[in-house]
Amino acid sequence: MAFLEIVVKQAWERSSGLCECRRTTHGHNNRCYKYLKWECRGEESEDGWEAHHIIPGGGDILGNCEILCYDCYKAIRINEK
Ligand SMILES: [Zn+2]
Ligand SMILES: [Zn+2]
Repeated sequence: MAFLEIVVKQAWERSSGLCECRRTTHGHNNRCYKYLKWECRGEESEDGWEAHHIIPGGGDILGNCEILCYDCYKAIRINEK
């Protein structure tokens, strides 16, 4: 299960290159808004990020794709396990 590149690009444009996480348990206010760099996708670094399925098994569609900074991505993946 993976997003097509075009879907990730559309999600990235929607996010304006800022983390879209809105989880209340992460310590950021409302939305995370962490600044990210396109070329740092999949990197566990300061500007790193990942495309994440909002609902696991919810399909590889834009509506189910969120751009997450690596900190948020990691925090969510731990909870999903
Ligand atoms: Zn974040
Ligand atoms: Zn978060």
